[in-house]
Amino acid sequence: MEHFFPALYGNEKIKALIGRDILERRQHHAYIFEGPAGSGKHLLAKETAKALLCQRTDTNTLPCDACLHCRKIEAHSYTDIAYINSGDKATVSVETVRNALATLSYAPDEGDYKVYIFEDADKMTVQAQNALLLSLEEPPAYAVFILLTTDSAALLETIRSRAVTFSMELFSREAVLAYLQQNSNAPKPRLQEASEACGGIIGAAKSILDGEADTAVLSSAAGDFISLLFTGTAADALIYCTQMKYSRTQFDTFFVFAMSAVRDKISAKVGGKDLLFYGKEQQGAEAAGSTLKRLTGLYDSLYEAREEIVHANAAAYPALCTIVEKYFRQN
Ligand SMILES: [Zn+2]
Repeated sequence: MEHFFPALYGNEKIKALIGRDILERRQHHAYIFEGPAGSGKHLLAKETAKALLCQRTDTNTLPCDACLHCRKIEAHSYTDIAYINSGDKATVSVETVRNALATLSYAPDEGDYKVYIFEDADKMTVQAQNALLLSLEEPPAYAVFILLTTDSAALLETIRSRAVTFSMELFSREAVLAYLQQNSNAPKPRLQEASEACGGIIGAAKSILDGEADTAVLSSAAGDFISLLFTGTAADALIYCTQMKYSRTQFDTFFVFAMSAVRDKISAKVGGKDLLFYGKEQQGAEAAGSTLKRLTGLYDSLYEAREEIVHANAAAYPALCTIVEKYFRQN
């Protein structure tokens, strides 16, 4: 029995599909891994590179994590794997992409494949994406491209159509708690707290446990903002917006939490039981007065505001006000 990607929790369907393809040497030239920060897409990219290049010291597990190639990839010292990211800039420029791809026409040094991992694919400018597109159209047989993004809609359709997209799994509170119990020595009440505040994202639960207050603060801010819409007035919510002074990365996390909160409320309306953000006791409350239409409208305007603030670099306050105004306008 093959065991694929043991380092990554959950995501069984994705792991089986990619693992099987690699084992049978019919992997795709381009993958898009999509999901919020902390959902495991970076880990999956690294493990996919290992699986492609693994020398199989253990034939039951892919990657084996013990051969020379696996170990070098783990140590980031494998020459045929390139990581492309924005560094400390807001975007990934066309020069960055061109420089990274300058080596594409040379055959790999160490193994059978060259892997290009674009860590902030959604930050690539349109010119940068077009530069990548040229390589995606006629890639050398040994090239594999992996694009990581919080939202694949931020990528050009011409790129998406040449890649296979996988969305990382989000987990129920119970599943996160089960994971944490196996992987953390923190006391039970803290594990419970982290599993409740993480919005179904394992990486967020870990940062909460590590004391990176940011994630916990943003999670509770998102919960407060959504509650205020349901139980407060438009004026209350607008005042709250003036206090939200976050970086773009923080806004990205804030919106992931806010959207999963609203998603839970929508799920409750239609009788769904899988919860990402709220506990069972809170799920149906508060939003009782909101129609399904109003909730889905809210979800859409959160999505739009996130696009504007995080991806289009728009000013935050007007975009936040639009969410509030749209919500209170619709009855
Ligand atoms: Zn190996």
